[in-house]
Amino acid sequence: PAIELDGVVKEYLSHGEVVQAVKGVTLTIAEGEFFSLLGPSGCGKTTTMRMIAGFEDPSRGRVSLHGRDVTHVPPNKRDVNMVFQSYALFPHMSVWENVAFGLRRKKVPDSEIKHRVGEMLEIVDLVGREKRRPREMSGGQQQRVALARALVNRPRALLLDEPLGALDLKLRQAMQIELKRIQREVGITFVYVTHDQSEALTMSDRIAVMHDGLVEQLASPREIYERPATAFVAGFIGTSNLISGTVDGITSGFAMLKLGEGDHVLVEGDYRAGDPIAITVRPEKIRISTEEPTGDVSVVRGTVSEVVYLGLYNSYAVRLANGAEVTVFQQNALDSTSTAERGDAVWLSWQPQHS
Ligand code: ADP
Ligand code: MG
Repeated sequence: PAIELDGVVKEYLSHGEVVQAVKGVTLTIAEGEFFSLLGPSGCGKTTTMRMIAGFEDPSRGRVSLHGRDVTHVPPNKRDVNMVFQSYALFPHMSVWENVAFGLRRKKVPDSEIKHRVGEMLEIVDLVGREKRRPREMSGGQQQRVALARALVNRPRALLLDEPLGALDLKLRQAMQIELKRIQREVGITFVYVTHDQSEALTMSDRIAVMHDGLVEQLASPREIYERPATAFVAGFIGTSNLISGTVDGITSGFAMLKLGEGDHVLVEGDYRAGDPIAITVRPEKIRISTEEPTGDVSVVRGTVSEVVYLGLYNSYAVRLANGAEVTVFQQNALDSTSTAERGDAVWLSWQPQHS
């Protein structure tokens, strides 16, 4: 593995009180992986990253890079580099000089500097702009200079802390694709910090979703979206419905949940009658119909309280017997005839494996 964190804790003393920014993170990142730390502001992403880079000493636990324990090794002796949101370019130096800076300091021979800087500028698509100053470039171009400068030392892993945070949405999306391409081209491990779920889902091989100093789920983007491990993950990633109640009985291996007359929600897992239970269902996994569905599906009845036309799909708000509101996305097919309207009594159904 490229990076291993083992029970890593970071405590700060703040106004005489101990604050745990990171409460015990254990994870392994594979060589060449595009790995994201995703979570809301303040959940400990930057602190975790700074411990990998060596800018912070863990209060407890161990950090290993490429099989070597580096817990107390200074940043410049670790084979990683970090890119920040503020690009921190030297304003008085040209693009070329900014990228070459680290190599010059290491007394790399001129001919090799020329070769390596040229190669890097090609990878980040800045050939022809070598003589420009940072202020003469767009935010996206400056970020690419920062990236080239971090990569030119050929680190085995690159750490990126919200590197696209300062860019507007369109440029950010273009740069997401660009970053992914660059990572593939240089073939090194990327650890990417973001609070933007769509960014993490787009780029990552795997994502660690962080919440309050801990990793709540570590999995592929698809798995995190389709099978969120906790209510927090389900709520943080995409839109989700939380349906809760008590188990009424067990039928053929499924727990049954009744919210009202005619409802039967099937839940996989080891439950007993009377257990409180909460499940999440994605809006696009739910079918809405004005006729009673058949088959081995979970069914709840409700009344349409709102319909919003969104072009590709409609978004329905449906009020259930227990007062909860469920969001349903239904695609507008060419031949779509199912037209539930505000006030209609409807059935909602989904496959039990989608909850
Ligand atoms: P994120 O990057 O996910 O927004 P951080 O890692 O920056 O989160 O911060 C996690 C928590 O630790 C926050 O509550 C923050 O206030 C606290 N924290 C971070 N750095 C320090 C510090 N140097 N001193 C005290 N508290 C800190
Ligand atoms: Mg941060």
